[in-house]
Amino acid sequence: MKSLPYFCRGEVVRGFGRGSKELGIPTANFPDSVVDNLPADICTGIYYGWACVGTGDVHRMVMSIGWNPYYKNTKKSMETHIIHTYKEDFYGEVLSVVVVGYVRPEKSFDSLDSLIAAINNDIEEAKRRLDLPEHNKLREDNFFRTSANQIMNGH
Ligand code: ADP
Ligand code: MG
Repeated sequence: MKSLPYFCRGEVVRGFGRGSKELGIPTANFPDSVVDNLPADICTGIYYGWACVGTGDVHRMVMSIGWNPYYKNTKKSMETHIIHTYKEDFYGEVLSVVVVGYVRPEKSFDSLDSLIAAINNDIEEAKRRLDLPEHNKLREDNFFRTSANQIMNGH
């Protein structure tokens, strides 16, 4: 995928409460404006990368890019699970991400347990890959600092 690594940011909006938080795997949703800007070569599936909320620290993340059943599968969604435990929700804050690499295509599961197992596998895979030295450069990327400065200066 030519467009990787892909940098983007946007406000965290409410998803459709599919209970991801109850599964222990909350996913922060981007608004349509961010999703609509995705380059065409970034296909649906599971990705890994780096993320930060507001001016916070940069953490590893896994992202699902997929078709949103709520819109009868006509609308893509981008949902980011940050591999970090936050004390509170951060709806309305700016989420900055760099999508680094692809893990696997989307698929459906025949049970909740197999879905959770697959997501936990994705998280382990993301950690393994992001711990490679070549990916630390992106974690340190100016994008995340620019983001922080822009937010603090109000633009
Ligand atoms: P929704 O359907 O509104 O997206 P979720 O159950 O998927 O609800 O929970 C997502 C929300 O949980 C995020 O918008 C964010 O405010 C919060 N959250 C807390 N910790 C995390 C995390 N580690 N990764 C992603 N979101 C988190
Ligand atoms: Mg969600």
